[in-house]
Amino acid sequence: MSNFLFDSINYLWIGIALVTLIVLVVFKIRAPYGRHTNKQWGSMMDNRLGWFLMELPAFLICPLLAILGPSEKDSVEWLLIGLWSFHYFNRTIIFPLRIRTKGKKIPLVIVFSALFFNGVNGFLNGYFIGFMDFDGGELLSINVILGLVIFIGGMLINQITDSKLIALRKEQKGYQIPRKWLFHFISCPNHFGEIVEWAGFAVIAWSLPAVTFAIWTFSNLVPRALNHHEWYQEHFDDYPTKRKAVIPWVW
Ligand code: NDP
Repeated sequence: MSNFLFDSINYLWIGIALVTLIVLVVFKIRAPYGRHTNKQWGSMMDNRLGWFLMELPAFLICPLLAILGPSEKDSVEWLLIGLWSFHYFNRTIIFPLRIRTKGKKIPLVIVFSALFFNGVNGFLNGYFIGFMDFDGGELLSINVILGLVIFIGGMLINQITDSKLIALRKEQKGYQIPRKWLFHFISCPNHFGEIVEWAGFAVIAWSLPAVTFAIWTFSNLVPRALNHHEWYQEHFDDYPTKRKAVIPWVW
């Protein structure tokens, strides 16, 4: 594939992400999974299996293309492959096993759109590393070290707060108001952590497809966090009034 075609696909994909962000925020559309699951969106499947299937393309496609592609890999590229694989091993295998989701369903339309979304992002990032003349640069360079700190910070926030949310199910059934730590500031620190994580990945990679994926993550998760925040306010009279949705003190 020529550089021009590859870049054009990325710019088109960024354009779609931004339109998606605007449409979801302006029309307050609630993606129908998790607490917003809705039978009006057609056929459903088991939630746990749905999560596994949706995340599988990203888990497989990016590392396979990156590793099997003909271009010679430097240490930064191996680092990127490792970080991606680590994140998606958790998201594809561990996360679906941990969620307390017995009997819950997810619409097929969500599963298929996420399959496509993850497939495209996995393809763009894997193809770039495996097939294009990408120079990852030095391991001990400012962008790699800074990006790694941002990535690890975001990943820890994401995984710790996902765990805290999953644990809320332990004590009682149904949804609770999450409290303490970052929940003091925002309703969805797990989404905030994921946004930070992929911003860090983009800083390490310093590549168009990694920036594209960071923009997509922002476009998916900011509207979702706004939906969750509004949902909490609708369902709990005592919901903390100073808490923001996803960006502390801001949004
Ligand atoms: P949620 O915060 O909606 O849910 C996370 C888990 O915690 C679910 O099992 C949920 O149950 C449970 N939970 C959440 N809030 C409560 C509560 N108040 N009381 C009790 N249980 C609760 O996260 P998402 O489903 O939106 O996303 C899951 C992960 O996937 C996140 O880490 C997110 O960042 C990531 N993700 C990444 C995307 C990307 O573009 N990179 C896109 C979408 C998700 P239930 O499902 O039953 O509501």
